[in-house]
Amino acid sequence: MSELVKTICPRCKGNGFIRIQDLLGEDIDQMDCPQCDSMGELFLPIELTFINEEGGRESVINKENNNE
Ligand SMILES: [Zn+2]
Repeated sequence: MSELVKTICPRCKGNGFIRIQDLLGEDIDQMDCPQCDSMGELFLPIELTFINEEGGRESVINKENNNE
């Protein structure tokens, strides 16, 4: 069993909601984040997280996206 740690939600990045954009990238709507149930944080296995520059814990999913 791996340890679960509170992590900034990788889907909404801690906002608790996600923006819906049109094809031009303009914000047209927003909705509660379904991944963290609009809490902005969720528990993930520790090996799937890392400490970001601000000292917060984030999912490695974000890290991979940032390297694009
Ligand atoms: Zn979320």
